[in-house]
Amino acid sequence: MKRLAILGSTGSIGRQVLDVVRRYPDRFSVAALTAHTGADLLCAQAAEFKPSFVGLTGSTQAIDCAVPVAYGAEALEEAATRDDVDTVVVSVVGMCGLKAVLAAIRAGKTIALANKESLVAGGSLVMDAAKAAGVDILPIDSEHSAVWQCLSFGKRFQKIILTASGGPFFGRTRDSLKNITPEEAVKHPNWNMGAKISVDSATMMNKGLEIIEAAHLFHTDRIEYVIHRESVIHSMVAFEDGTIAAQMSPPTMDIPIQLALTYPERLPSGTPTFDFSKPLTFHAPDEKNFPMPALARESLRIGGNAPCALNAANEAAVGLFLKHKIGFCDIYEIVKGVLSTLSVIEKPTLQDILNTYDEIVGKLMRDYR
Ligand code: MG
Repeated sequence: MKRLAILGSTGSIGRQVLDVVRRYPDRFSVAALTAHTGADLLCAQAAEFKPSFVGLTGSTQAIDCAVPVAYGAEALEEAATRDDVDTVVVSVVGMCGLKAVLAAIRAGKTIALANKESLVAGGSLVMDAAKAAGVDILPIDSEHSAVWQCLSFGKRFQKIILTASGGPFFGRTRDSLKNITPEEAVKHPNWNMGAKISVDSATMMNKGLEIIEAAHLFHTDRIEYVIHRESVIHSMVAFEDGTIAAQMSPPTMDIPIQLALTYPERLPSGTPTFDFSKPLTFHAPDEKNFPMPALARESLRIGGNAPCALNAANEAAVGLFLKHKIGFCDIYEIVKGVLSTLSVIEKPTLQDILNTYDEIVGKLMRDYR
């Protein structure tokens, strides 16, 4: 029986993690649940799964729940480090994920990782800590899960090839995107996701962030990406002999989520098999019109706190765009500006990373009040 702590249990990934627990109740138990908001759903989950710990991080206002509830940000680390937890599923959004991941690693927990900020902003801290503690980090994101699965073919690879759907504005020119509204940007062709990640997919920054994550997870800078509209191949690895391994499945998070939990076993999932009558297509990236991935690569080249700065600027800019304060193409200009004026810290501590994030987000929020 694997005992899970699910950080961010009311979000899209967290809810699907609980679907896997419902599917295999003899293999998994839920020891801890936390949510930032969504108290009603959190309480319903607590009543169903009977964890020994429930945390509501976004509030200190007591709620009516059958299980005692811990309130405030500290609940996240408490859930991540409990003695009755084996695997910590980190499906929270934001920098709070980085602190929780580091705490869970130090406590010797296996990490099932769906939080982007931990590897983008604190990749070296996380990977060094995991190595020192001998802890596995199992990726939940579909691309990184695909690469991880492909690497079971062999270890000597030429390059990683991430796939990208291209988002809702594939094929368009930068000029034609100036007046895009938030409502248009959050409509994704294949995946149903939160607003922030949908905008990241529309700007292609999502792929940029995934390049940074992959660089840390798989210890390489040999990472390319290709546009694959159907989102059936979730990523590929090209090996030294010329073999290219690809991981395919219908576009659902069910498979990567379940595999991160059941690894090293593969069990039946809720996903139907793929229909081969539909063609699969591939296109070269268009970084002239979608330059965000190049910016992400640049932050990786600079290193230190630069990927954290890129992520902070992007998060703030996407927030401003969603509030109609800036235009769609301004997101890139803001991130580029932040990166070009950054005071680089070569070997940042956790505190340096958190400060970099707070300073950049704080400044952008003041500038565009
Ligand atoms: Mg992804």
